[in-house]
Amino acid sequence: MLKRIVAICSVLSVMLVSVPAEAGKTKSKLKGRHRTGQPDQGYDDTLNVPGQPWGVHDKERPEPWIITPPTASTQEKAGSAPSDATVLFDGKNLSQWQAGNGGRAKWIVKDGYMEVNGTGSIRTRESFGSCQLHVEFATPSEVQGDSQGRGNSGVMIMGLYEIQVLDSYDNRSYSDGQAGAIYGQYPPLVNASRAPGQWQVFDIVFEAPEFDEEGALVEPAHITVFHNGVVVHNRATSLGQVAHKDPAQWKAHAQQLPLTLQDHGNPVRFRNVWIRPLTGYDSDQ
Ligand code: MG
Repeated sequence: MLKRIVAICSVLSVMLVSVPAEAGKTKSKLKGRHRTGQPDQGYDDTLNVPGQPWGVHDKERPEPWIITPPTASTQEKAGSAPSDATVLFDGKNLSQWQAGNGGRAKWIVKDGYMEVNGTGSIRTRESFGSCQLHVEFATPSEVQGDSQGRGNSGVMIMGLYEIQVLDSYDNRSYSDGQAGAIYGQYPPLVNASRAPGQWQVFDIVFEAPEFDEEGALVEPAHITVFHNGVVVHNRATSLGQVAHKDPAQWKAHAQQLPLTLQDHGNPVRFRNVWIRPLTGYDSDQ
């Protein structure tokens, strides 16, 4: 019975948020998503999937939203974002970004990329919590400096949890600070770096930490990172906010915060940056 009520509520909620679309398709309130609108398929006489309100192969279980997947990038050309992503940078302008003090972001935008220029870190205008994040970066082709002084930048999720950007191609630095490291906490599982000047990719799945009303940690952040298609963190348990030469600590913060790209004084480039809020199975479907 409960299963049926949940199913009916779910169907009703879908009807409420859906609007008619072409060829019988149903559209989501979230851009870039739709459903086929074709008749349900499955069974109504099966036992429940363990721990779930749905029967096995339940015909009333909502159809997953359909999205257009991303296209892959090449060294010459950036790919496209999935249809339901928030595009943070598509090579044209910094409209989604602002300076750390809330002023205008002043990084260079040229030839489809943005480049660090010493004007400070930039952050998104919008705030995000748990998410899937795609970032492409290139460290300078003209190699200068060594260790942490070569191609240093960072993807600071929520402005607090840094995935290190560094030229780690034939450039030894401390292991928990090389490219792909969760800075100061975990080295990447392998060094999958490309040569200086080459475009590289981080695909990140970030589960935001949870705090109770008193600010105590309830659930730490978990971070999965693919560097150039290779897993370098497999749901690593974050130890707290990024720190330099100090152990990480937890400090309570909002559920959503801006994403920051770090200006560490090296002219690192970024392109094709997009983000998707991470939703559970029972969210919006
Ligand atoms: Mg850094």
